[in-house]
Amino acid sequence: MIAIVKERPAPGLTLKRVPVPRELGPHDVLVKVKRASICGTDVHIYNWDAWSQERIRPPQIDGHEFTGEVVSIGGDVSTVKVGDSVVSETHIPCQKCLQCRTGKMHICKNMQILGVHRDGVFAEYVRVPEVVLWKVDPSILPEYASIMEPFGNAVHTALVTDLTGKNVLITGAGPIGVMAVAVAKVAGAAQVIVSEIKEFRKDLARKMGADIVIDPSEEDLPSRVRALTEDNGADVLLEMSGNSTAFIQGLQSLTNGAVVSLLGVFPGELSFDINGLFTFKGLTMYGITGRKMFETWQVATQLLKNSRIDLSPVVTHILPADRFEEGFDVMMRGISGKVILEF
Ligand code: NAD
Ligand code: ZN
Repeated sequence: MIAIVKERPAPGLTLKRVPVPRELGPHDVLVKVKRASICGTDVHIYNWDAWSQERIRPPQIDGHEFTGEVVSIGGDVSTVKVGDSVVSETHIPCQKCLQCRTGKMHICKNMQILGVHRDGVFAEYVRVPEVVLWKVDPSILPEYASIMEPFGNAVHTALVTDLTGKNVLITGAGPIGVMAVAVAKVAGAAQVIVSEIKEFRKDLARKMGADIVIDPSEEDLPSRVRALTEDNGADVLLEMSGNSTAFIQGLQSLTNGAVVSLLGVFPGELSFDINGLFTFKGLTMYGITGRKMFETWQVATQLLKNSRIDLSPVVTHILPADRFEEGFDVMMRGISGKVILEF
């Protein structure tokens, strides 16, 4: 089969022929990959930055966001059958630790990640344990099914609190931020305000339904948000930039008693006035990891299946797998939403 492989501990990825993983354990499933999408994590792996150097052991197939069809199953598999269309959690839980045993598999202590700790999905076939698979409704087109994993990040982050009638601020209009715009709208937010610095992404936020898009490099975000909210500030912050300045400006834009849902991953440690910006404002903050298994997937499925959310503006590129370099290029330049590869 063809696969996109991190061959050596160096920048770049290689398209090459590798064996199909035919040996299945009792709970393994072999999936024929139809569409896979490129995540920011894949860009880190492509660039071979410090984060990747610590975690990735080449040679390894890259990629973790995908949809496909079940082609064979291990002897004890009972939740999917040959021919099923599936999407997949990329976080593989151990199913044995305290978190897994108490309904919190998404924060498993022994989490393995597809395409990070083991071979990924940028290939014609991938072997995964059945626990991560979620049957996908055939009415959801494969290009949208293949981005249900990052869409799930948006769903999980946005829906930790009731957004009905709330002024919601989203910092960072990357692919996940703009999908969160649509989730907040469908959840009944009064206004969805987005902070973003890149032109392409500001446009994408508008296309996904943002009521107001503010460029914090041109305007003072906290004063503008207060002006839009009867001088109160926003009720909810969805942090989706991973940028410390954006996060701090986000906190400064909140009203007392607001809720923060934090998805963005910062490159290093953060320093901010926690007394003034958090404690004395009486904020509540949620740290978000991945997607709840499988509550988030059920909500994501229902929103897409019943056309409550249209993901078409987010999918800016669909490329055959052998043109993956073009996909990484537009991702790195910030002139894309989700880039999808066809296998
Ligand atoms: P992305 O990097 O494509 O998007 C981030 C956006 O933030 C970009 O459009 C960028 O222009 C914008 N931005 C940067 N600085 C800004 C500033 N000062 N003010 C306003 N906007 C600013 O990322 P993505 O794929 O959409 O993911 C969003 C974040 O979520 C990333 O930090 C990613 O690492 C993180 N993430 C976390 C999890 C998790 O489980 N916690 C999972 C997936 C992604
Ligand atoms: Zn576990």
